[in-house]
Amino acid sequence: MSFDPNARLDPGQVEDVRGSRIGGRSLAIGGGGIGTVVLLVVYLLMGGNLAGLVGSQNPSSDQQPQTSTLQQCNTGSDANQREECRIVGYVNSIQKFWTDEFNQAGAQYQPAKTVIYSDQVSTGCGVASSQVGPFYCPPDIRVYIDLGFFQELQTQFGARGGSLAEGYVVAHEYGHHIQDLTGQLSSGSGQQGAIGVSVRTELQADCFAGVWANHAAATGFLEPLTADQIGQALDAAAAVGDDRIQRKTQGQVNPETWTHGSAAQRQKWFTKGYKQGQRRACDTFHATNL
Ligand SMILES: [Zn+2]
Repeated sequence: MSFDPNARLDPGQVEDVRGSRIGGRSLAIGGGGIGTVVLLVVYLLMGGNLAGLVGSQNPSSDQQPQTSTLQQCNTGSDANQREECRIVGYVNSIQKFWTDEFNQAGAQYQPAKTVIYSDQVSTGCGVASSQVGPFYCPPDIRVYIDLGFFQELQTQFGARGGSLAEGYVVAHEYGHHIQDLTGQLSSGSGQQGAIGVSVRTELQADCFAGVWANHAAATGFLEPLTADQIGQALDAAAAVGDDRIQRKTQGQVNPETWTHGSAAQRQKWFTKGYKQGQRRACDTFHATNL
């Protein structure tokens, strides 16, 4: 149990395209659109090249949202019982927080939908395979998640899982949406390395996830987070650290090619956001000590 059973969910913030066809198209190898996708993790576990995982085709017209099962996600009680409703609950809570946060700053938050898909999906950033993991696509202002990733987080990345591990992943992707709205996202692509722009962008998204976690109960969707749940988020953040993934896939750690930050860095910035609860705690771009 982590959601308030009586909370009212808004399933309209999530689209479900699982089971829809992409019309027999194959993924384009080396297609465009890579630079505009923001991932939770560069998925090296498959030994694959990211360029082969995201194609450049236009969104398919036969891939229509299927809202039937999501429409049964009405309460926090539903979120406590069904994974897809849990995603709805997290998306609702995260967007409620950022709406209030932007209002207090005299700005207006622009909502972003989350798309639940399976296997592959047509997006404004091209056709993506679930092998890329969760990602935010700026051109169509959507977060994309294959729920199978949460299993892989445990089986392939060695995380212990748990509800708030999922909440962290969703909140991280919405962190990129916040960066998109504030103009901090465009500078993120390209520069690798432990103190490079890419790592700073990713660590800020982790910090934003922590800021949301600080206020999660105040959004009215979640019960107060327990120390164990925060541990789930920290564990997930560490599992997708560049050093952990490199050690697992290459047998060695090479900070010069980091794009998302080490396990320790990702935990540090989530914790910083969580403890301070303020967006300004997340200025990773000017931090001298990442
Ligand atoms: Zn990211």
